[in-house]
Amino acid sequence: MKITKVILRRLALKMKGAGFRTSFAQITQKDFSLIELHSDSGLVGYGECSPLFFPWYSEETTLGAISVLQTVLIPSLLDAGEIASPEAFFDATSWIRRNRMARAAVDCALWDLWSKEQGLPEYKALGGVRSAVEAGVSLGIEPTPDDLCRTVEKYMKQGYRRVKCKIKPGHDIQYLSAVRERFGDIMLMADANSAYTLNDIPLFKELDDLGLLMIEQPLASDDIVDHRHLQAAIRTPICLDESIDTIDDARRAIELGSCKIINIKVARVGGLTEARRIQQYAGERGVYSWCGGMVDAGVARGHNLAVATLPYYRYPNDIPGSDRYYAEDTVTPSTFIDEHAMIALPDRPGMGFDLNQDVIDRITVEKWEYGAKA
Ligand SMILES: [Mg+2]
Repeated sequence: MKITKVILRRLALKMKGAGFRTSFAQITQKDFSLIELHSDSGLVGYGECSPLFFPWYSEETTLGAISVLQTVLIPSLLDAGEIASPEAFFDATSWIRRNRMARAAVDCALWDLWSKEQGLPEYKALGGVRSAVEAGVSLGIEPTPDDLCRTVEKYMKQGYRRVKCKIKPGHDIQYLSAVRERFGDIMLMADANSAYTLNDIPLFKELDDLGLLMIEQPLASDDIVDHRHLQAAIRTPICLDESIDTIDDARRAIELGSCKIINIKVARVGGLTEARRIQQYAGERGVYSWCGGMVDAGVARGHNLAVATLPYYRYPNDIPGSDRYYAEDTVTPSTFIDEHAMIALPDRPGMGFDLNQDVIDRITVEKWEYGAKA
């Protein structure tokens, strides 16, 4: 495939209700960008660029990633000539340091386009082994354990089997114990987003008694050494999220024994190409994966659904339905979670979702178009 035209948009999508709260701000809209790759065959591939507006989750930001797309990745696409496969482009641009969310937008769009050219659903082109994936629900920190239990109840009634609760010091064991006591033997897990240190080992030993499915990223985001010490001290499997950006990070963490599970976010690791490599490398060593998200809009959700069909994705995924975070969907058809918390994949070439063009046009803040040189 040869890329003949690229359209890049900056978008602002309103969140439902009050949005979500981070340690420094209330986020009420998703600021992100969307890339459209047009090929000489007349087909189009889509990729969503996922950093947050502020460098809170990773070092990338909405506007920084747009700059990297404009100055580095789009010129590389237009100068590349014939691109043999998404992996070929990913490897050819591996000289780019970090900036993996910007690279992921391009990698995902290339997979969408390439699988359309093959006439295959993207999940089949990737090597997926199932046509539906399980969703788990991810819940923020609530004012009291009772509030959390009420929220959990609402989602259990909708069919979810896996509940993930965000925790932080002072809002951990009493919350998780309350949920365990009230709901019995459900798949319960915690995400700490790096809120703890090795001084908290006694707390994690207490958490062992709750039989959690896993505890996600308890220690520093860039650490694998302290996680090794913690994993050696507790029975609960540690799942690494922020610490794993590349297959080499995964190799080091597995060799050290720093985790037993990896949350592979497509955006964080640079796209579907690297996600597929990590799940295979880790899975062959008994470390299984699942798919996390970046409060994604429709295009990123479509790619997440595809990646979660790969063989070593073995846990429920943070892939919400279309109505969870946003009043409007940027793609069609919308995604629904059935009464068993399963999401069926579209059986169409490519990612399987089209842009909801009315919505996209309405939420476009800025639009740029680039063509190949004659
Ligand atoms: Mg996480």
